[in-house]
Amino acid sequence: MIVKIDQDGCIECGACEQTCSALFVVESGRKASIVEKYRKNTPDIGDVPDTLIGCVNDAVASCPVQVISTG
Ligand code: SF4
Repeated sequence: MIVKIDQDGCIECGACEQTCSALFVVESGRKASIVEKYRKNTPDIGDVPDTLIGCVNDAVASCPVQVISTG
């Protein structure tokens, strides 16, 4: 599964990191990103291992502005 963050729409609330810190990081004053380990070339796109699919889906649901998508 691939996950993408529309960083332009991110309001830096931190919910995705709180829900799934294995894959998302929200540094102070910056838009949410994929942790380096699972990044695909750019910080807004990640390759989700099977073991983290549940946690990523929870993070998608946690985002108040729905800018995280999977495919
Ligand atoms: S939950 Fe959504 S708005 Fe909040 S930091 Fe993550 S991507 Fe940004």
